[in-house]
Amino acid sequence: MIRKLLELLGLRKKSVPKPLQKVYRQAPKGKVVAKALYGYDMEFMYGRNDIKDPGQCPICHTSFKKVPNPDYKVQKKKGDVFCTYDGYMIVTEKFKTFCEINEYRYLKFIPLPKSPGYYYFEAEGIFRIDSTRRHFYFGKKQECCNQYDCIAIGGMLWKDKDFYLPTDDFIFQTDYWFGDHHNKSPLVIIGTKTAGKMKRYGLSGIYFDNVMG
Ligand SMILES: [Zn+2]
Repeated sequence: MIRKLLELLGLRKKSVPKPLQKVYRQAPKGKVVAKALYGYDMEFMYGRNDIKDPGQCPICHTSFKKVPNPDYKVQKKKGDVFCTYDGYMIVTEKFKTFCEINEYRYLKFIPLPKSPGYYYFEAEGIFRIDSTRRHFYFGKKQECCNQYDCIAIGGMLWKDKDFYLPTDDFIFQTDYWFGDHHNKSPLVIIGTKTAGKMKRYGLSGIYFDNVMG
């Protein structure tokens, strides 16, 4: 009775059921289509600001090619994959054997003569990245070599939607080179199946980041 009175006076809200809220579905989020491969950090291949690196533009020192230093000595560390601070990926004999067993194609292993059993590693197949995503940052475009002095990404990597990925077992590298100046390098992208195989084979010191598509 009191409740009815309060409702009439407008002091108490009628307990009417809430109307069904319309739920707007978010645009479908992507799924994981590949993994970026990382390893432990390692010392510079050429030194912090070394201009002897032959893979740089001689004017602005932006890296356009990775040419390993034959005098480089690998620090003995646990693990099978390493990334130098200047963007060189180094792998062990075990990593190389894994790739040979699985018959991945278009991979380059350049021996480091001062460190037997270690190789500078590069994948020549290209994985195209979507650069129109938010958090993709381009630095200044150099006039001397027509390269961006820096490319960075603050979020997830996304596959270019027009890039058709025929398999989930591969080792490629990105079309874009990330980092700045002479530290720029491509990222190595592997298949989701490949990531599992690497773990099962017992490769250690390897880390993955999701690549969405
Ligand atoms: Zn340049």
